[in-house]
Amino acid sequence: MYFNEESVVFCNGKFIKATELTTSSYSQSIHYGNGVFEGIRSYDTDQGARIFKPYEHYKRLKFGADVMDIKFEYTEEELTNITYELLERNGLKDAYIRPVITTGADMSLLTSDKTDFIIQCWEWGKYMGDKLLRVKTSKFQRPNPKSCFVEAKVTGHYVNSILSTNEAKKNGFDEALLLDMNGNVAECSGANVFMEKDGKLYTPPRGHIMAGITRSTVIDICKEVGIPVEEKHFTIDELKNADACFFTGTAAEVVGLQSLDNYQFPSEWKDTHGYNLMKLYKREVLGQRQKAKAS
Ligand code: PMP
Repeated sequence: MYFNEESVVFCNGKFIKATELTTSSYSQSIHYGNGVFEGIRSYDTDQGARIFKPYEHYKRLKFGADVMDIKFEYTEEELTNITYELLERNGLKDAYIRPVITTGADMSLLTSDKTDFIIQCWEWGKYMGDKLLRVKTSKFQRPNPKSCFVEAKVTGHYVNSILSTNEAKKNGFDEALLLDMNGNVAECSGANVFMEKDGKLYTPPRGHIMAGITRSTVIDICKEVGIPVEEKHFTIDELKNADACFFTGTAAEVVGLQSLDNYQFPSEWKDTHGYNLMKLYKREVLGQRQKAKAS
């Protein structure tokens, strides 16, 4: 699914075959989860491959490297250019792009000064599918923001996402919703959450969540088209009294929820702001909204 004999990756300054990649089993990333990654999408448009918000994604990658004291010298512009070249070398336009910085062979608990930087990409459909999701409130909470940098995409943080997704799937659900340490709704295992109540949208503020690039894109679209939206904490009981709910993320895009635990969201998905935003977001990533605004 991710690569074949022909696939090319960018590795430590060179384009090489994916089959030539090697991993050190002494890597700090394997033992302790000390690494940083990104999840980026590119879309096939009339003008060719279009990477959505590469600067924002690479800025977050650099922020993650910075807070983990991982040496990383590339600029956002260099990274964007390398990624376009990588897509071209792989003949991909509609793709998921996964840059990762791993730390080297070092068993101490101090960030290694040896690093590897790899960008991989592959063709990938909709991450959460097209149907409405049946979601379970997880027994796992999002990490305490004083225990880590929650806004950094650090590889080790994703153990929490794996635990909650495993739990949801084992119980017959599609996805997990996690609360923060104060009992407020935080986010999905790999996406942010919005609820709709009486024609207005609410989404948890930054602090205990990943500051999603899709989340901020959706908030900007709401402001442009006049959909009322507020960043505010809410509880699971408030969410189980909402009209509708949706998740946002680079991989998930905008995806509606059918239910949360035993609560069915009452609004018809097609009648919600979330449904409109799903369509507007699709046009935004394809570069069709800018054109419409300009003409
Ligand atoms: N929350 C978590 C925990 C995530 O891993 C992601 C994916 N990066 C998101 C939210 C959504 O972020 P984005 O819209 O930038 O992909």
